[in-house]
Amino acid sequence: MRRLSILGSTGSIGQQTLEVCRKAPADFTVEGLTCGSDIATLYDQIKEFSPVAVAVSDPIKGAELAKRLKDEGIKTEVYTGPDSSSVIAQLSECDTVVGAIVGFAGLEPVYHAILSGKTIALANKETLVSGGDFIMPLAREKGVDILPVDSEHSAIWQCLRNGDAKNLDRILITASGGPFRGMKREDLENVTAEKALNHPTWKMGGKITIDSATMMNKGLEIIEAHHLFGVSVDQIDVVVHPQSVVHSMVRLKDGSVLGQMGRPSMILPIIVALYYPERGPAFTEPFDPFAAGINNLTFEKCDTEVFRLVGLAYEVGRQGGLLPAVMNAANETAVMAFLDGRIGFLDIERTVYEVCSGFVQSAGQTVDIDSVREADRIARENAEEILRKFIS
Ligand code: NDP
Ligand code: MG
Repeated sequence: MRRLSILGSTGSIGQQTLEVCRKAPADFTVEGLTCGSDIATLYDQIKEFSPVAVAVSDPIKGAELAKRLKDEGIKTEVYTGPDSSSVIAQLSECDTVVGAIVGFAGLEPVYHAILSGKTIALANKETLVSGGDFIMPLAREKGVDILPVDSEHSAIWQCLRNGDAKNLDRILITASGGPFRGMKREDLENVTAEKALNHPTWKMGGKITIDSATMMNKGLEIIEAHHLFGVSVDQIDVVVHPQSVVHSMVRLKDGSVLGQMGRPSMILPIIVALYYPERGPAFTEPFDPFAAGINNLTFEKCDTEVFRLVGLAYEVGRQGGLLPAVMNAANETAVMAFLDGRIGFLDIERTVYEVCSGFVQSAGQTVDIDSVREADRIARENAEEILRKFIS
């Protein structure tokens, strides 16, 4: 039995993790839950799963929830404020932390979970993009497993689980291509948030859905794979595969290519992580190779002239240091501005490029929690400054 703390339990991955817990009450207990501000959903989760403690990042919402629980005689403890998810990440009652907060806000709680020796099931790719250089060594030092939940990385991990990691030659990371696959740059200029939020194959939170539309999601995933599997970004190819059936592939030194197939559902990668090193039960419909749409699988190159953030991510991944944290922070800031209707779609890319090109990397700079936090903060300020000129 795993004893879980689910960070970001009110989000898309968080709710799907709880769906797994609901179906397998003998295999999981829910000890801790956290959210940003959605206390209505969190309250329902508390009633259903009776966690020991929860955290709400927004202090006002957190106080409101604490009062409600007290009035109703519910024993769950409530922590509030920006650092409160880190408390839940270290609960002595839990052994496994599911990192499902969106964005850089997910890094610190995961860092604290590793420090206190918890197993990490990681969906929050921004943790590794910004902090992979110290997160991975810290996990090794503490003997902590980082189990990937991101579907492509789960696929790669599964392909390498038979001991083939030493034979890895290249990673072929698949991408659906998002809602704007095949479009030209001039068509992208005026796409709306509503269109960008309409992903063809995956239902996810807002930020990652926009990242999929700009293809920055694949850029982030290249850097995530670099950290998880110890390969250079230049050993990773992006393969656009609109059907989202092959979740990624690895090419071994003898030329064999192994892939993992399945329906586009996050339930399976969540189960693969949470039952590791065993295999879990079938909670989703079994994969049917004869189902509609599966008989015509296609693979194409990514058009990096149109989706320029992919090329930027390769360059940023090569340079490393604090630059990936800077790119991530600029992207988060620009995506939020786009979702708020403040800037256009291609202004996301323009902002991220400009923040990255203005960043001067100091030689010999250590990458640790403090330097990454500071790089993130400054990059957000710079991004806000730059995107102001795109606001019409
Ligand atoms: P959502 O936007 O659906 O959910 C985000 C969660 O994080 C919510 O619970 C939200 O709380 C919480 N949150 C936001 N800010 C804070 C904060 N400062 N402190 C504590 N909690 C916070 O995101 P997704 O579930 O889609 O994505 C989560 C992560 O998983 C992302 O890093 C994403 O890239 C990754 N991922 C997601 C996939 C998917 O299919 N959705 C697939 C692969 C990876 P609240 O509800 O209160 O705002
Ligand atoms: Mg993914």
